[in-house]
Amino acid sequence: MRVVVIGSGVAGTMAALAARKTGAEVIAVAGRPGASAQWSGVVELFGPSNEPPPIENLLGRSRQPEAHRPPGIAPGDRFERLMDRRRFHPYARVGLGFEAVAGHFQEALELADLEIVASLSPACLANAHGLLRLADGCASSLRPGLLPLAGSTRDLTVWGFSHYPAFDPEVVANQLQHQGLAAEARWIDLPDAPLCQSVATAATVLEGMAADRLEEIGRSIAEGTGERVALVPPILGRTMRSHRSIRDGLTQKGERADLAELASVHNSLHGFRLIWELQAALEAAGVAVRQASVQAFSANDRRIASVTLDSGERLTGDAFVLATGRAMAGGFQRSEPFTETLFGLPLYLDGMPLDPLQRDSATLVSRSLVDDHPLFRVGVGVNQRLQPLDVDLGVAFDNLFSAGGLLAGTHFALDGSAFGVALVTGLLAGRTAVEAEVTPWV
Ligand SMILES: Cc1cc2nc3c(=O)[nH]c(=O)nc-3n(C[C@H](O)[C@H](O)[C@H](O)COP(=O)(O)OP(=O)(O)OC[C@H]3O[C@@H](n4cnc5c(N)ncnc54)[C@H](O)[C@@H]3O)c2cc1C
Repeated sequence: MRVVVIGSGVAGTMAALAARKTGAEVIAVAGRPGASAQWSGVVELFGPSNEPPPIENLLGRSRQPEAHRPPGIAPGDRFERLMDRRRFHPYARVGLGFEAVAGHFQEALELADLEIVASLSPACLANAHGLLRLADGCASSLRPGLLPLAGSTRDLTVWGFSHYPAFDPEVVANQLQHQGLAAEARWIDLPDAPLCQSVATAATVLEGMAADRLEEIGRSIAEGTGERVALVPPILGRTMRSHRSIRDGLTQKGERADLAELASVHNSLHGFRLIWELQAALEAAGVAVRQASVQAFSANDRRIASVTLDSGERLTGDAFVLATGRAMAGGFQRSEPFTETLFGLPLYLDGMPLDPLQRDSATLVSRSLVDDHPLFRVGVGVNQRLQPLDVDLGVAFDNLFSAGGLLAGTHFALDGSAFGVALVTGLLAGRTAVEAEVTPWV
């Protein structure tokens, strides 16, 4: 049996790994990096803490930061509220309850061997603007910075690096103080390092440092931090490999466990490292990867027979998984006919296909920036088996399955579950694609 997975962000990678685990031959077609490459390092899984959600916080424009500290609502309660508010959420479409989501999340992390940790009790993390974000999990480099939502927390020292002046530890410490935390700011002076404008170039400078220089910096951080937790900008390496070696230097091979990167706000190296990890997981599992874009497909009746890549290669398969993300990754058309890009699938809103009259911006976009714009909940409609639906609410193709950010029913920025949806539906789509061929649904 051969499964072809289109897209290799979080969702596509999970689908490929899950299908591969059943013994199927799997080919993943990896287009250019999409949303997963911009991931901030924070895992959102069970829903947001606030109603309405703190959009100013997400945008980094909070004028009253103390009002946006996430309240300590238990994950199970957040999940219930999310399901009440979003009846067509992908978790609900596939019939998952809280325990199932939590279980599939752990399963997915183990299957991909991702350096991501789950936070078992309600917790939050600071980002590089000093704003606190609710976290159901995080990249492992953020873990020592996980703070409980209620009760006492450890004091924090925010470190800036002189070669990366765009990150100002004073501003970040100030924001954290506004949110009730004890935070102070310190600088590491690197007079010989070239000034860097971006996280990537700032990381390159650290990557080029000798181990003893990193250890020296690590000692300065340790002395200046004392019993506090040291928070640093997310610039410790572009890949997981370089990150580990910088981190080893700064923490004396892990002896100091209380140094954490902050979550990213844009141009995220957490996302960049994640993309490398996903690729490595595909290779380790024996998934064949094509760095290409799918341009066309052929079908017989309601079955996809093959897809054709921009290289001209034609890939036949028994089942296909569509994990092409939202508009920024190429999954949707940004303009008329405003459908899914590859198979021309209709886009759904609130359980129904969008009709042409609904597609104007007045219906899909609210007047205020901070409103809950329906446009962001638009996506591919699926049934319980994650099979995309056609305009008549029927299955579009019997052997096509779908996962991740392109699914309808959830607002990727406001619903506090985007990364979880990609991981969990990816896992289920890959598995279901294989099972459906063995046990067709009647
Ligand atoms: C700036 C930003 C910050 C975020 N921060 C968080 C966060 O803090 N917490 C959280 O939970 N979530 C966050 N998310 C959301 C989360 O990262 C995404 O929901 C998730 O990564 C989506 O994964 P995906 O695999 O569905 O899509 P993508 O990662 O977009 O992958 C889709 C892939 O499909 C490929 N593709 C498209 N068309 C084709 C084609 N024709 N042929 C071949 N390949 C194709 C694309 O090239 C792309 O690689 C953030 C997203 C963004 C953009």
